[in-house]
Amino acid sequence: MRIKDLLGGAKPVVSFEFFPPKTDDGVEKLYRAVEALKPCRPSFVSVTYGAGGSTRDRTLELVGRIKHELGIETMAHLTCVGASQTQLAATLEKLAAAGVENVLALRGDPPKGEASFLPAEGGFSHASQLVAFIRREGYPFCVGAACYPEGHPEAPDLTADLAHLATKVEAGVEFLISQLFFDNQDFFPFVRRARSLGIEVPILPGLMPVTNVSQVQRFTKMCGARIPQELQRRLSIVERDPAAVVAAGVYWTTVQAQQLLDHGVPGLHFYTLNQSSATLAVHAALGL
Ligand SMILES: Cc1cc2nc3c(=O)[nH]c(=O)nc-3n(C[C@H](O)[C@H](O)[C@H](O)COP(=O)(O)OP(=O)(O)OC[C@H]3O[C@@H](n4cnc5c(N)ncnc54)[C@H](O)[C@@H]3O)c2cc1C
Repeated sequence: MRIKDLLGGAKPVVSFEFFPPKTDDGVEKLYRAVEALKPCRPSFVSVTYGAGGSTRDRTLELVGRIKHELGIETMAHLTCVGASQTQLAATLEKLAAAGVENVLALRGDPPKGEASFLPAEGGFSHASQLVAFIRREGYPFCVGAACYPEGHPEAPDLTADLAHLATKVEAGVEFLISQLFFDNQDFFPFVRRARSLGIEVPILPGLMPVTNVSQVQRFTKMCGARIPQELQRRLSIVERDPAAVVAAGVYWTTVQAQQLLDHGVPGLHFYTLNQSSATLAVHAALGL
């Protein structure tokens, strides 16, 4: 089913994001973890797209298997990193042949060690070009894209980033999923500004329950998300107690998610980092 149609329903959409493991063993473990989520009836599960090589094939394999064998709707992430238009077209053909209906069209980050993003020969510099390509070539996908409540780290400011976001949506995006954030006061004004620019597509907030302090510090540094002082304070109190860190993370995300739902967001997208138990605890606490 197309995510656009899922978003039109009466209940908020709930989605879980996973990344493709590096080994076949890991793939089986992840497959079982996704199977364990089935009772939560996720609206869809998404699988990220790696920097290259075998994990990219695993993204394709997982979105197909989860959809057809587990009966859970899926979305494949796809980036422009290291791929020409011909290579992107080949991947899109494979996804369509596997019956995948939803694609998150991304530019991707510069490869490790490179300061800025350089398009592959015959490839794209911005996600908006990938979106336009998917539309121009007539691929049948429901297309989503990324957005950044605190601004993309490379953008000079949020105003410039929002202008680029408007261009990307105009190219044919049907829904947006936000970068993770920990303070709803970054999300609400962002949505208002997007709407004022004529961006009307549903915007799913991206949430990540903290399960590990050093990991979240590393992660937020990379993606430019801010850890609010209050969350930082709570985490530093329990830093040496792994179970208490998870409890603090689950509590924070539950309160954040409930407030977002109270404000009528169309759904919640959870970054699981392949650790579904914290996300499941949030899901249970919300009574979704
Ligand atoms: C929900 C979500 C899922 C993700 N999944 C993955 C994944 O699976 N694999 C992965 O590698 N990465 C993933 N990422 C990370 C993403 O690839 C990076 O954040 C990347 O740096 C930007 O990708 P984008 O699609 O937002 O790029 P773009 O929309 O192209 O934007 C990137 C930057 O370019 C600027 N820009 C856009 N258009 C123009 C223009 N015409 N002129 C000048 N500047 C412009 C934007 O303002 C922004 O600063 C994900 C991010 C999110 C939020």
